[in-house]
Amino acid sequence: MSTPCEETTRSGGCLCRQIQFTVSGEPDYPHTCSCPHCQKLGGGPMMSWVSFPLEGFVCPEKRGELAWYYTFEGETKRGFCPRCGSQLFALDDGATSIGVSLSALDDASGLAPVNQSFRGDAVCWLPQVPDSRQVAA
Ligand SMILES: [Zn+2]
Ligand SMILES: [Zn+2]
Repeated sequence: MSTPCEETTRSGGCLCRQIQFTVSGEPDYPHTCSCPHCQKLGGGPMMSWVSFPLEGFVCPEKRGELAWYYTFEGETKRGFCPRCGSQLFALDDGATSIGVSLSALDDASGLAPVNQSFRGDAVCWLPQVPDSRQVAA
């Protein structure tokens, strides 16, 4: 079994590939989220996320610019492609890490979600991700 926190550089992008990015550094806490914002923005019953150090995040402007929408004004914003609408990022103001949608990564191997956030908002017709977080030694 591969270690879930292997440090690599990973690439990703939106559906139309107008937005492309790389992240490097240690991935942190892959999880799904069924909060109301994720359900509305993601167009499905949950989104899946993993955090990377913000300093290792590179998103060069190519043909277009990443768009941001504040889901909590002045606190948390979501990054998406203004052309195809793909949801890509979640970023808290002042944070040192950025949330990246697992679906936006070209290769999310080794990043299986270890927990699910906002279980109380989850739909009843899908099983929930079991909490498999390991207690720090
Ligand atoms: Zn796009
Ligand atoms: Zn959420």
